Amino acid sequence: MDFSYSDTQREIRSAVTELSLRFGDAYWRDCDAKEAYPDDFVAAVTEAGWLAALIPEQYGGSGLQLMDACVILEAINAAGGNAAACHAQMYTMASVLQYGSDAQKDAVLPRIARGDLRLQAFGVTEPDAGSNTLRIKTFARKVNGGYVINGQKIWTSRYRQSDMYLLLARTTPYEDVKRKTDGLSLFLVDIARAGKSLQPRTIDTMLNHHTNEVFIENLEVEDTWRIGEEGEGFKYLLSSLNAERLLVASECIGNGSWFTGRASRYATERVVFDKPIGANQGVAFPIAQAHMALKASELMRNQAATRFDAGVPCGDEANMAKYLCSEAAWQAAEACMTTYGGYGFACEYDIERKWKETRLFRTAPLSNNLVTAFVAQHTLAMPRSY
Ligand SMILES: Cc1cc2nc3c(=O)[nH]c(=O)nc-3n(C[C@H](O)[C@H](O)[C@H](O)COP(=O)(O)OP(=O)(O)OC[C@H]3O[C@@H](n4cnc5c(N)ncnc54)[C@H](O)[C@@H]3O)c2cc1C
Repeated sequence: MDFSYSDTQREIRSAVTELSLRFGDAYWRDCDAKEAYPDDFVAAVTEAGWLAALIPEQYGGSGLQLMDACVILEAINAAGGNAAACHAQMYTMASVLQYGSDAQKDAVLPRIARGDLRLQAFGVTEPDAGSNTLRIKTFARKVNGGYVINGQKIWTSRYRQSDMYLLLARTTPYEDVKRKTDGLSLFLVDIARAGKSLQPRTIDTMLNHHTNEVFIENLEVEDTWRIGEEGEGFKYLLSSLNAERLLVASECIGNGSWFTGRASRYATERVVFDKPIGANQGVAFPIAQAHMALKASELMRNQAATRFDAGVPCGDEANMAKYLCSEAAWQAAEACMTTYGGYGFACEYDIERKWKETRLFRTAPLSNNLVTAFVAQHTLAMPRSY
């Protein structure tokens, strides 16, 4: 496999970097301080067509591949931005593109490509189930022509910045299914039409992430808005989850290279004890080690994305890429924080902001413990822990 970047990917990287640098540190710092959603940035990325990258040309998108989308999100974060404000539109897309009906695609994709419709909310996690997605309780009861859904989601990010909600619910109780992965279904929910049957409550978090609990009461969804077959939702979800892991891995690579760039510059400029602090190996080595870890994790991301785009199984690689990239980015974040000394804690240097954003990815969208359990149990076929 050839993991070098294509000319198109190089062009994408430079165009996205140019756009992202128009929204500098002060812009993101201000959003963070006000806990404001970066509306102007997301509008600019949408207008430039980058959020429609994965939508086929026949629906008005650019018809690019996941590896190209990875380059887009990586470039945003490498320039100091936070692609998590809008990344979901790319990974929710994987389920819709692969398993959505033609009618669903006709209804939503051209509008998303035009920027008239936002599909930024992904409702999987529930308070009682936690990492054990198969134990979700939100239930879609079959009625004539559709479903009535009741339950609760937690950590639905960007719910208030979305027009549609990709929602996972049980259609057969856990106790009644043959295989644990059966009996889940995936729905596209129109948030405005849902009215009061969807009630969000903002979760106050340590970072600017716009995430919510969502209470679901007698939500009516027509059959036509169920993705694919009833009960097969977990299978459909996996393509979005693999895409999500790779896009998040790419944001981590972007964050990591931002940190090593800042840290190495600061280590060269900051003079203490009459010499640049970077002349001390105690300062320089952690930055160099983080750089090496990032470069190695980037190769795994590239391999996984190449497999995803080739349509061959990529679960092992996508999981390993998510783990390695998020740990390497965290290594870089810690090295940078240490290099900046006390100034790392001052908001005006932006280190603490990116540090918080980077820490998230060791826990969400899937905690690294669970990735490790996957590799132990599936890749290496060791005894299961759950
Ligand atoms: C800011 C933010 C945004 C999010 N956005 C979304 C979103 O948009 N949509 C969505 O659906 N979800 C979202 N999530 C949820 C996220 O995916 C979960 O928080 C994550 O998967 C972990 O689940 P949990 O918090 O319930 O932890 P738990 O499942 O309660 O686990 C707690 C700890 O125990 C560990 N643990 C649990 N079981 C095991 C085991 N068998 N072996 C080893 N360790 C174990 C976990 O690794 C974790 O460290 C978001 C979360 C955050 C914090």
